[in-house]
Amino acid sequence: MERYRVDGNLRPVPVFLKEVFDGRDELYRWMREISRLKRDISIRAKQGYGSLLDIDAIQEHLEAARAMVTRAAPFARCVCKPREDCELCNGKHWVSVDNVQPSHGDLMGLDDGDADGGDAAE
Ligand SMILES: [Zn+2]
Repeated sequence: MERYRVDGNLRPVPVFLKEVFDGRDELYRWMREISRLKRDISIRAKQGYGSLLDIDAIQEHLEAARAMVTRAAPFARCVCKPREDCELCNGKHWVSVDNVQPSHGDLMGLDDGDADGGDAAE
């Protein structure tokens, strides 16, 4: 049985965006891998063979890469209609955390009483 999938606003992912939000798991895996690499480097760089490494710079670049993946990952379906042209999502019908606009606030449970989960709780 297929796992029920919701977006970052805890809204059901529509069928036409299923592939995008399934792929989001791959980007989450990259984020975890980058974090694991950062931890690994901080431990192993103390060995003699790592003495010439600029660990701070490496960690900074890895963190920047992780943040870029985080910001670009699919976050939520867009507020536009499926066949509507939309400048926010450029026709993708999903947005990243960088694209989320105040108009998404109601979907994020920030300004209405939908925090009980409603249709997404099952
Ligand atoms: Zn849109």
